[in-house]
Amino acid sequence: MSTTTSELAADAIRWYDENARDLPWREPGIGAWPILVSEVMLQQTPVIRVLPAWRAWLARWPRPADLAADTPAEAIRMWGRLGYPRRALRLHECAVAVLARHGGEVPTGLDELLALPGVGAYTARAVAAFAYGQRHPVVDTNVRRLVARAVAGEPDAGPATRPADLVATEALLPVAPDRAARASAAFMELGALVCTARAPRCVDCPLAYRCAWLASGRTAPAGPTRRPQRYAGTDRQVRGRLLAVLREATGPVPRARLDLVWSDDLQRSRALAGLIEDGLVEMRDDTCVLAGEGGTDG
Ligand code: SF4
Repeated sequence: MSTTTSELAADAIRWYDENARDLPWREPGIGAWPILVSEVMLQQTPVIRVLPAWRAWLARWPRPADLAADTPAEAIRMWGRLGYPRRALRLHECAVAVLARHGGEVPTGLDELLALPGVGAYTARAVAAFAYGQRHPVVDTNVRRLVARAVAGEPDAGPATRPADLVATEALLPVAPDRAARASAAFMELGALVCTARAPRCVDCPLAYRCAWLASGRTAPAGPTRRPQRYAGTDRQVRGRLLAVLREATGPVPRARLDLVWSDDLQRSRALAGLIEDGLVEMRDDTCVLAGEGGTDG
């Protein structure tokens, strides 16, 4: 590790110690399960929306065994309107696997974490680093962008290339595992709050003295700026409406009731088929229920 990269991490950690947001999943000793739940929720949802959902989830299911003892349908219900509800199903599967394979304790080893349902390269390393203080590169979109700018002098990170991203970020981490974990948290926070995609606040950035992109005069991005994803009128919106009806229901919902949520027959059928294919919804005769609420034949 060169002096420059070690100083980069040191600067980031110093900034983080003074500026990090006070988030409940960062409290010392919070435990691996609350951290794992937060990482899954935060992947596609902003902090402000995750906070109440995370608190409610952990109040109801403080340990993996608690969630494993409940139905997948209840997990989908609790997920509410957080979006991308397959994550609720994966978290439930994860809790079942943690109970069956690890006696209800979230494992500490990276390979064991990676083998859990719904736990990908990012989440596994985030849990290993933030819950267990291990030295792993934790690379989300924000970190990729920060590293691309500060180290490579590029305006943005370009397409994800996992091995290269991991190598580039690991090269910045201090040797001591606890410092490395703190640096990972600092890089993520800097990417989320300061080195943002559209308006990086270089004037407030602790890495400004060493940032390659800033030194190059902040060349413009090569490609067009990505537009925010449209939601209104998409299959995602229809899926959300269908799920909302099923979440509220206390028993099987007739197809005819679901037909009322969206007038376009083709799009509604496609959205429902997608929910069934994803394992979120089950169909029985001409009624629908959330996963695991359908009972058994016979
Ligand atoms: S100086 Fe600007 S571009 Fe460089 S890392 Fe900081 S915020 Fe990002």
